[in-house]
Amino acid sequence: MTSFPSTMQVAPLTVRDIVHHAERVYSDRRIFTVEADGVREATFAEVISRARRLATALENLGVTRGERVATLMWNNQEHLEAYVAVPTMGAVLHTLNLRLFPDQLAYVINDADDAVIIADASVLGLIARIRDRISPRHLIVRGTPEDSYGLEFLDYEELLATVDNDDYSWPDLDENTPAIACYTSGTTGDPKGVVYSHRSLWLHSLAIQTQNSIALGESDRALLVVPMFHVNAWGMPYGGLWCGADLVMPQMFLKGEHLASTIQQLRPTLALGVPTIWMDLLRAATTGEYDLSSLRVLVAGGAAVPATLIRAYRDQLGLTVLQGWGMTETSPLVAVAVPPIGAEGEDEITYRAKTGRLVAGVEIRVVNEEGEVLPHDGKSVGELELRGPWIAASYIKGREPDSFHDGWLRTGDIGTVDARGFIVISDRRKDVIKSGGEWISSVELENLVMGHPSVHQAAVIAVPHERWQERPLCLVVLREGEDLDVEDLRRHLAPHVASWWIPEFWATLPEMPLTSVGKFDKRELRRRHGEGEIEVVSV
Ligand code: ADP
Repeated sequence: MTSFPSTMQVAPLTVRDIVHHAERVYSDRRIFTVEADGVREATFAEVISRARRLATALENLGVTRGERVATLMWNNQEHLEAYVAVPTMGAVLHTLNLRLFPDQLAYVINDADDAVIIADASVLGLIARIRDRISPRHLIVRGTPEDSYGLEFLDYEELLATVDNDDYSWPDLDENTPAIACYTSGTTGDPKGVVYSHRSLWLHSLAIQTQNSIALGESDRALLVVPMFHVNAWGMPYGGLWCGADLVMPQMFLKGEHLASTIQQLRPTLALGVPTIWMDLLRAATTGEYDLSSLRVLVAGGAAVPATLIRAYRDQLGLTVLQGWGMTETSPLVAVAVPPIGAEGEDEITYRAKTGRLVAGVEIRVVNEEGEVLPHDGKSVGELELRGPWIAASYIKGREPDSFHDGWLRTGDIGTVDARGFIVISDRRKDVIKSGGEWISSVELENLVMGHPSVHQAAVIAVPHERWQERPLCLVVLREGEDLDVEDLRRHLAPHVASWWIPEFWATLPEMPLTSVGKFDKRELRRRHGEGEIEVVSV
């Protein structure tokens, strides 16, 4: 038998391909940056030209291959310039979360050993608070700070102006070269870092363009509410450049009213953010003052999206919500809840309220506590494990090795998968409630409680119990003018869940504590409860 080797070219998959394509095919597509006094605009060609100057300037400052250049920035044009310049020149972009506590921020800067930090002027105060604990060689500031806090820094525009040409030529790199470092937001512990490679970013950037995921394309204009430090704004910066989708960068103007007026003015076709953002936009938009009709879809991920939110957008605003599931460790795209063909009406909402349908390129399995692989029958509950070319194989410095085994990532998410690849997450391992040896899904309870008309937001946590080991405590933020009526809420749950799931412990919160990326902060709720700060009503 004769055998043939493949006759195909071996082309390294690097971010440079994305940059070249954006420049050669979509040079006139645009980036919009929202400012306090209006909107700034630039074409892809201008952004990439400035990125070449930035790369030259960084090399002049001594930045070498593999060194980390960190950003502490809102979503804006210059942040995109760093996304283009830093990995493509062979250095590693480290996107810092500007909502981290100073201790955690200092920790991740030191852990990643960042050589340069590029910061927005508005967050200079944060750097000042940790300055004596970190040692980058250079600090570069974009914009004019109100106070310099005695810090020495280079001005971003002046630095670019030191380079009098944009003929920087991007180097050849191996596709496995590290490109972007990102730390988890620390919802469940100290931040842990992963490093995306050129290859993983390349493949992920294509995946978000496929029709069964987000279907990003040239006809799109994407509003990036999700921060560029939260898992690369879910892949939008490179995805948008690659397929010619305009990008709208809202910086710190993230309140519902502001987003609604940005949408009305700039007419994006899709917007991406965590569910709490869309709860706030809904509140602002139902006043009817804003025209949001340009949106083909609101992409929601990072936490479970309640069915009531999806329904409210459909019924009140005629808008479609698309739920996705991902993690820092997964680049993040894993699953998108695109309903199967033929699903209409309530059936469609049921599918949209599931966590998501597995996208091409990622494999999933469900594993029980004994390590057995369970069937994809939509019923067998276990930890979800993932494998694929944009899934992490380890953390920076080999931390938490137990999260990886046999080539699979243990997600820490508990749930089911059905025969058509629809995933439903019932809990994070650390949030699981075990009552009398059986699991109660906090996510399902929360979604149901948020379907009650008096409730704005709900979080369910486990509290210790003498007889059942743990019981659910439901903490609610009520809508304005509503009172807590525990019996009514329990009646509301009764048709949907087993009677022993129904919480007997309830409490109200003036507002929901949120994590640095806008998720319900259950760790903080457990702390408050543990320290007796929460007044619990029991029935
Ligand atoms: P952190 O782990 O610090 O919260 P990530 O943003 O990486 O930071 O969080 C990933 C986690 O968010 C997932 O493991 C999962 O628990 C949760 N998550 C993301 N999307 C969804 C979703 N659609 N439904 C339920 N949980 C989700």
